[in-house]
Amino acid sequence: MIFRAKYAILNDRTIIEDGAVVLCGSKIREVGRYTEIRDLYPAKVVDLGSAVIMPGLVNTHTHLELTHHKNLVNHYARFTDWLFQITTRSNCDDCQQINQAILDGIQLSLAGGATTIGNIHSSGKGLETLRNSQIRKVVFLETLGLSSHVFADESARISKTLKSLRNDDLFTTAVTPHAPYSTSANLYQYCAEIAKSDQLHLSTHIAETKAEIEFLQYGTGEFAELLNMLNISLDAWNPPGVTPIAYLRKLGILDLQPLLAHCNYLTDNDIDLLARSGSSVAFCPRSHKYFSHTNHSIMRLIAAGVNVSIGTDSLASNWSLSMLDELKFLADNYEELLPETLISLLTINGTRSLKLKYIGKLEKNWQADLIAIGISDDGRPVFDQICDQASENLMTVVAGTICYRNENLEI
Ligand SMILES: [Zn+2]
Repeated sequence: MIFRAKYAILNDRTIIEDGAVVLCGSKIREVGRYTEIRDLYPAKVVDLGSAVIMPGLVNTHTHLELTHHKNLVNHYARFTDWLFQITTRSNCDDCQQINQAILDGIQLSLAGGATTIGNIHSSGKGLETLRNSQIRKVVFLETLGLSSHVFADESARISKTLKSLRNDDLFTTAVTPHAPYSTSANLYQYCAEIAKSDQLHLSTHIAETKAEIEFLQYGTGEFAELLNMLNISLDAWNPPGVTPIAYLRKLGILDLQPLLAHCNYLTDNDIDLLARSGSSVAFCPRSHKYFSHTNHSIMRLIAAGVNVSIGTDSLASNWSLSMLDELKFLADNYEELLPETLISLLTINGTRSLKLKYIGKLEKNWQADLIAIGISDDGRPVFDQICDQASENLMTVVAGTICYRNENLEI
């Protein structure tokens, strides 16, 4: 099959007019100008018209289990109040509800232009649904628990779940100790050990709020209150007295080149530690706005050479799971980010963040993961047209399979 469109963006540097991508099974066989390749490959041509074919977007931080929480949780100014709602509500979700939330989350992700997701999975329910879905995914199995008596159960649960899952072309397992205010040093180190021995990727939520910094420094503040409300004992908690990033270094987590979600509050020294360790950051721009955070360190991180990618986070703290919406939001609100940087953030940087290969560019022999963005073709630069509010994703292809098509697309 050959997809043809007015434009094709092959990577952050290359845009071609009258672009075409030739597919062969799950891979890309050729990319280039349509007129130059049409005679070389006798295949069915799908002409997408006024559209831009580009690499599928990589959402490096989401929680599909929370897809239905959009209308269930209230918007609170304090992160810990929000987290209290999530924690108490999630405990009530049954298997069927979680399955449906995952299915709906996958459809919304595909419709919004994501071909790959880094999904945090906490309940253990619905894993088969996730595994059998057509989207490419790295599934970070989540563990948490501050009290010492939780450790044995949680470490055994994670080991057992990992053993029960087999990776395939679209499914990769990984681990995620939740966050330093919810997860003991022992659990962090346990995750580090299995990540090392089983060669698994590791992610964690880190430096998300000022309250987290206070809790790690002094053991006081909103998180102490939250844990108290949840009847979680702080007996085993010894505040390390350092920043969240320095704490991860102390625990040996940074040696694993982890994927660090949020990183909303960083010192210069933290950024230096991240750059030297080769860690990646998943910045969630609209979730950042949802909680009224300001001045994310994204420009400082990029300048320091840290690999930054983009996540939507969940529908409990975002207005949609669309990565195209995330791109438009970034283009509108982070004018200092150049178009080519934005393309990298949402594509190849995501590939690196998830430690995957052969996705994030349209290139010969790479995976056929691509999308087609419908544009008005009004003569403006291609990137401006993609970021126009009226643009929409027409089609999402994962590993050569059309997984989503817009109702306006006639093919
Ligand atoms: Zn998250």
